Amino acid sequence: MRAQVVQELHHLTLDGSTGEGGGQILRTGLALSMVTGRPLHITRIRAGRPKPGLMRQHLACVQAAVAVCGGQAEGAELGSQTLWFTPSAVRAGDYHFQIATAGSCLLVLQTVLPALMLADGESQVQLSGGTHNPMAPPFDFLERAFAPLVRRLGVGLDLQLQRRGFYPAGGGELVARITPATQALAPMDLLERGPLHNAWGEALVPGLARNIATRELEALGQRLGWTFEAGQLRQPPTRQNEGPGNALIATLEHAHITEVFCQLGERSVSAEQVAKRLVDELRAYQRSTGALGPHLADQWMLPLALAVWRSGRAARYTCTEVTQHTATNAQTIALGLPVQVQITAVERAMQVEIQPAP
Ligand code: AMP
Repeated sequence: MRAQVVQELHHLTLDGSTGEGGGQILRTGLALSMVTGRPLHITRIRAGRPKPGLMRQHLACVQAAVAVCGGQAEGAELGSQTLWFTPSAVRAGDYHFQIATAGSCLLVLQTVLPALMLADGESQVQLSGGTHNPMAPPFDFLERAFAPLVRRLGVGLDLQLQRRGFYPAGGGELVARITPATQALAPMDLLERGPLHNAWGEALVPGLARNIATRELEALGQRLGWTFEAGQLRQPPTRQNEGPGNALIATLEHAHITEVFCQLGERSVSAEQVAKRLVDELRAYQRSTGALGPHLADQWMLPLALAVWRSGRAARYTCTEVTQHTATNAQTIALGLPVQVQITAVERAMQVEIQPAP
C-alpha cells in the first residue's frame, strides 16, 4: 500500500483536458518529466478539441523528447488520448528534428529546451518544418522576445534562421545552439517594461505579390503613425524557396523587454484586416502596464520556474493578461516542480510570482 502511494507520488499525472486543454499541457508535461526524471502519464489529451488526441505536431514533440533523454513512450500514436512517457538521463548533443506537414519547429524546440538548458554540455538542435505557423510562436518572437530572457538566466541560446517555412508548405529550417549555464540559473524579476526605445513593423511576403506587404505596412503606418522614411515600416528580403506565406510583425523594444507581435495573412483576410488585427494586439499591450504580453507570459513561466527551483530564489513578472494558456501552465508547473505559482491583479496588469515550495 505504502509503496503504491510513493509510486503514484513519483509519477507526474496530468489530465490533458484541464484548462486550456491543448498541446501545451503535453509540451510542458514532457519538459517537466525530462528535467525532474519523473515518469509522465497524461490522460484525455486534447479531449475537448474537434480532433482529439495527439496530432502529428504533438507526436513530433514526443519523439523529440524521447530522443533528447533516451526515454520511452507508450501511446505515441496519431489520435491517442493517453501517453506514458518514461524519461532517462538527458543527453546534450546534436539533434535534427524534422516536423512533417509544416508543424511548428518552435513548439518542438520549446519542448526540449528546458531539458537541454539544464544538461551537462552544449547542444545544437536543427529543426525543419514551419517557422511561422498559426497558433504557435513565430521565429521572430522566439529570437527577439523569448531568447533574450532565457539568456538573462545565464543560459546561452543562439537561434539562426536559415529559411522561413509557412503553413501549409513548410520547408523552414533553423538551428538552435543551447549552452547550459555555468553557474546556478539566476532568476530575475521583470516588473516593468521601461521606456520605449524603438518600434517597427515588417511585412514578409515570400512567394506572394509585393503589394500585399506595401498595403499591410501602409495600413499599419496609418494607424500607428509609423513611416517608411523613419525606417519604422520594413520589407525584409526573402530567401529562395521560401513561402508562399505572409506575416506582419511588430517589434517593440523597451528598456527592459522586447515584445514581438505577429499576424499571419490568410487567403480570405485582406491586407488591411491583417494590419488591423496586429494593431489591436499592440493596443491591448499598450493599454496595460504589464511587462510581458500574453504569449510571452505563458512561455516565460517554465524557464523562470526552473530557475526558481534550481536557485531556491523567488521571482516575479507582470503581464498584460492571464490567458487560459498561462493559467494552465501555472497549474501544470506547480504539479511538476516543487514551486508555487501565484497570480494576482496589480494596477493595470497581472503579476505572476513563483516561489520555491516551503
Ligand atoms: P497550444 O495552443 O496549446 O498548442 O499552444 C500554442 C503556444 O503558441 C502557446 O504557448 C502560445 O502562447 C503560443 N503562440 C500562439 N500564437 C503566438 C504568437 N503570435 N506569438 C507568440 N506565441 C504564440
